[in-house]
Amino acid sequence: LFAGETEFVKGVVAMDGLPPADRMEVCFAGRSNVGKSSLINALTGRKGLARASNTPGRTQEINFFTAGDIYVVDLPGYGFANAPVAVVEKWQRLLKQYLSGRQTLRRVFVLIDARHGAKAVDEEIMSLLDSAAVTFQVVMTKIDKLRGDALQASLDKTRAALAKHPAAFPELILSSSEKGDGIATLRAVIAGIE
Ligand code: GDP
Repeated sequence: LFAGETEFVKGVVAMDGLPPADRMEVCFAGRSNVGKSSLINALTGRKGLARASNTPGRTQEINFFTAGDIYVVDLPGYGFANAPVAVVEKWQRLLKQYLSGRQTLRRVFVLIDARHGAKAVDEEIMSLLDSAAVTFQVVMTKIDKLRGDALQASLDKTRAALAKHPAAFPELILSSSEKGDGIATLRAVIAGIE
């Protein structure tokens, strides 16, 4: 699946800029610092690939990468605190249009830091995915930072939150880009999407 070339295709700021919907795509979303770049890099085996999404100016774009036969899409920029209202609204409009109109988008992986659990902005994107009827699956990141009971409590809480979302895929993926946990699982999940 990820054996072929992996490269940055483009950052999209408007619906008419989307690349042709000619292959399956999966999307990664999460608050900044959740570990999204690290995860995408671990997944595709290319260090620095997703860094493009974190550079200033790209944070309000939908960033497309090719990974073998599919598009891996990085959705940066939700929960940006200090941006002007007009910028936030433009971004939200684009996000909504993209999520509800993209035939080839098969699953969104919503990344949640295992230490922090789902925040208000995570709830917002999950509700948006419910309304768009796009299946999403939560990836708990940085699980290496929590032990036993604390991790269990965080997972229980997240599962309870997911139960309220009709578009949520019930199984969580536990990941640590640091230790390599969950990467093979994530690859297998993506490969298994029909
Ligand atoms: P992004 O803003 O969501 O793209 O987050 P990054 O991938 O840039 O990661 C943010 C910070 O968290 C960096 O300092 C990473 O080294 C760290 N980080 C990312 N993934 C993990 C992980 O699995 N475990 C630990 N301990 N730290 C991580």
